[in-house]
Amino acid sequence: MSDPLLRLTGVRKSFGDHVVLRDISLDVHRGQCVVLIGASGSGKSTLLRCINVLETVDDGVITLDGTELTDPRLDVDAARARIGVVFQSYNLFPHLSVLDNVTLAPVLVHKRSKAEAKERAMAMLERVGLADKAHARPDDCSGGQQQRVAIARALVNEPELMLLDEVTSALDPELVGEVLDLLQQLKAEGMTMVLNTHEIGFARDVADTVAYLHDGLIHEVGPPAEVIDNPQQERTRRFLARVRH
Ligand code: ADP
Ligand code: MG
Repeated sequence: MSDPLLRLTGVRKSFGDHVVLRDISLDVHRGQCVVLIGASGSGKSTLLRCINVLETVDDGVITLDGTELTDPRLDVDAARARIGVVFQSYNLFPHLSVLDNVTLAPVLVHKRSKAEAKERAMAMLERVGLADKAHARPDDCSGGQQQRVAIARALVNEPELMLLDEVTSALDPELVGEVLDLLQQLKAEGMTMVLNTHEIGFARDVADTVAYLHDGLIHEVGPPAEVIDNPQQERTRRFLARVRH
């Protein structure tokens, strides 16, 4: 197999004397989807934030296609431009149209011309199935549609890697499916993704690798058929029994 796109080696992170990530090592290959599962507070979001350089690690190394994201001399903006991030709360600007929300970063951050940015943004809205909402305000879209806009916004710069932090947790149950379908589509298109979710059924469908986090460690890692359907660790079994009900 080729070198992983993303490699975490011995990542540690504490907040004060609270150790959140003890020793995290993980490889993510191109086109793979890695799903992090674990109880609330187990460090899933912190791990994604370390990858996106929103947190500095205390120890360990993270590389993205050979670029060391944990190097103190890193050009953080350049690194972040290679990574698309979507959070639970979609954080769209309510006073801007859907199209302008997606166009904003390419124009402001990536200094693209407005015309080019609009064209790419429209293509992205098309891809997430929302071209007809381009001129609507976010408030005129359902939660599921707003989250798909947030995903389009993250895709518009053609990231090498997408990080998705509980992107369906704020949605009404009937709107979860359309967002999960979109993630399935991205995966089918070859996007490399690291995400965390409480949707265990979805994790089983989309993940190449599932990593169960507990107490700052990856307790169990492997394909969903092993970690979800035949977990070897008692802790993993207990966690799955809790979230499934
Ligand atoms: P998860 O996403 O798995 O629910 P988080 O990564 O959000 O877990 O949080 C892991 C632990 O780190 C929690 O105990 C949380 O309170 C703590 N934590 C997260 N961010 C901070 C921060 N900025 N300062 C202090 N503690 C934090
Ligand atoms: Mg979290």
